[in-house]
Amino acid sequence: MLRIEALHKRYKTGDAALRGVSFSVASGEIIGLIGPSGAGKSTLIRCVNRLVEPTSGKIFLGDVELTALNKTALRQARRRIGMIFQEYALVERLTVMENVLSGRLGYTGFWASYFRRFPQADIERAFAVLERVGLLDHVDKRADALSGGQRQRVGIARALVQEPELLLVDEPTASLDPKTSRQVMRLITELCAERRLAAIVNIHDVALAQMFLPRIVGLRAGEIVYDGPASGLTPEVLTRIYGEEDWSKTSAASGDAADEEPAHAHGHHAHDHHHDRDMSAAVR
Ligand code: ADP
Repeated sequence: MLRIEALHKRYKTGDAALRGVSFSVASGEIIGLIGPSGAGKSTLIRCVNRLVEPTSGKIFLGDVELTALNKTALRQARRRIGMIFQEYALVERLTVMENVLSGRLGYTGFWASYFRRFPQADIERAFAVLERVGLLDHVDKRADALSGGQRQRVGIARALVQEPELLLVDEPTASLDPKTSRQVMRLITELCAERRLAAIVNIHDVALAQMFLPRIVGLRAGEIVYDGPASGLTPEVLTRIYGEEDWSKTSAASGDAADEEPAHAHGHHAHDHHHDRDMSAAVR
């Protein structure tokens, strides 16, 4: 349902972030995108909804070539693509319900959204997804009154209420502790299965990726160096993706070591604005 062909991205600064990336995602399939910092993971998922404009290559969502769409057509196509962010990208002073409803902005007309008037059907949809993610008791709370895990569940609900076919998930657990990370990954994978959603999950925690994501695409310096089952992430493959390291002592090959992973909380504030901008571009 998603096909990426020979995707290249060179930023104006001269960095070649993607160098001929090709792969497909089937309907209902969920893939983990791993690779070292700077490998191009974030650039890749942002090229799919064209928050980043690819330099060359083609991306198809079903029959639609996303890379060929004009602004209006792109706005329509983006309804089919939900995005979940590392730092949640919630509007802090708005309630949980208002944040979730913002996922419907791609459908509401300009004046309706200007006055924040959402159709009853949207409100019912929002209640349904909030129930599914376990936030029904928090509907009227302000986003800034929630824990990290709850905030990410609001982010997930906002993406779902859009009724997308594809989810782009950018490091959903990077700001969460290990237990909450697992809960969030479990929720995302269950929801994909229930709704036959395809997803690309950019994730830097290899153990967590292995635990929840059957297919892994490994990116290094803008190129795919592995595309296969999570069980195939041997020390050799991890070396190909991340470079030399004693992988036998760590997670992936030897199984479940997610609890040893530090929670990469805090310290991502430099990205916040960036993601907020992404968010507003994504809903408009
Ligand atoms: P990852 O998500 O795997 O850490 P990124 O996609 O963020 O990788 O970055 C890939 C490369 O592109 C890096 O070399 C990074 O410096 C560069 N890059 C990312 N975003 C920009 C940008 N907005 N302008 C210029 N270069 C960028």
